[in-house]
Amino acid sequence: MRVASILDSSAKGHPERTAQSADKQKKIRFPGSEGFQTVLKSRVNAYFARLNRSPRDSVRMYVKTATIITWFFTSYAFLVFAPLPTWAGIMISISLAFAAAAVGFNIQHDGNHGAYSGSRLINNLMALTLEMVGGSSYIWNYKHNAMHHTYSNIHGHDDDINLGVLGRLCPHQKRFPFHRYQHFYIWGLYGFLQIKWAFFDDFKHTVRGHIGKLPFPRPKGLNLLIFLGGKLFFFSLVFVIPAFFHPFWVICLFYLLTSCTIGVITSVIFQLAHCLEEADFPEPDPQSLQMKNEWMIHQIETTVNFARKNHLLNWYIGGLNFQIEHHLFPRISHVHYPALSEIVENTCREFGIGYFAHHTFLSSLKSHYLFLQKMGRPA
Ligand SMILES: [Zn+2]
Repeated sequence: MRVASILDSSAKGHPERTAQSADKQKKIRFPGSEGFQTVLKSRVNAYFARLNRSPRDSVRMYVKTATIITWFFTSYAFLVFAPLPTWAGIMISISLAFAAAAVGFNIQHDGNHGAYSGSRLINNLMALTLEMVGGSSYIWNYKHNAMHHTYSNIHGHDDDINLGVLGRLCPHQKRFPFHRYQHFYIWGLYGFLQIKWAFFDDFKHTVRGHIGKLPFPRPKGLNLLIFLGGKLFFFSLVFVIPAFFHPFWVICLFYLLTSCTIGVITSVIFQLAHCLEEADFPEPDPQSLQMKNEWMIHQIETTVNFARKNHLLNWYIGGLNFQIEHHLFPRISHVHYPALSEIVENTCREFGIGYFAHHTFLSSLKSHYLFLQKMGRPA
């Protein structure tokens, strides 16, 4: 195993590389490392070298993928083909939603980051599982890998903290009087996230060639074919195949239940990483567009971990409770994050860098609620 290649090999969605090209475009700059980055990377490299373990292609990940895909299609088959009473249909619908969210958290997320395998083909195949649950891996690569991972919590550059006028997720966003109630109503909005992606956002981004304020190349050729084919596959799965067995209004009601459950689960898990009282929302210098901290420190100070000892949650959400490690090393498979977390936390302590982790899921959820309440109040 070539240790030097662990953190530097090229594959789809390398955040530091996309950061550089995006930086040129928008001119936001992160200062060079003063040592922290070098020390941390060398310790992580040493960890993999010592155990002679690859940061990708974990057997656990392949087993997990088979389990989640089986869970997803078994739930789908029962829901569409089995003659179920309504109550059982509702239960299976919720099971399908949890399975779909698990596809998003685990398989497509690692695949799109190039963290699943050393093989670009396998990463791309795993990335395509996003199409199965209504998204677009092409759009995700720009929105999530390039923009969110490079410019975490920077207003106007990180589209994940942009809810338009509906919510205020950052102290630099304009406040409207109705934001005073956002800590109550935002959970309902989260429910429509999957529908918004599948039916509206991906098409809007593709037509406009912009995600938020940032331009990106519209899909062309094979990418356009995959984009359209993916949407066709998803709509067939959701509406066309069930139409042979159920009335259309029943299909719509069950789709609504499933997609709203997916929306709430995925929104909450992703929001608990950055939209909390403990996370920073730094701005670049208005003249030079230079950020104060080097890129890795910026990632740590804008990100919060939670429930690191909850093994079930860790399995289900694909290590997204270790978001600090994920933001620092997005090309390492999430199955390694618990081990890396100790290295990262100790190195942060040595360098006097704040590393924050909530002990439980509920304390993190409470922090998100209080953050929404604070952002909704007048300054
Ligand atoms: Zn990510």
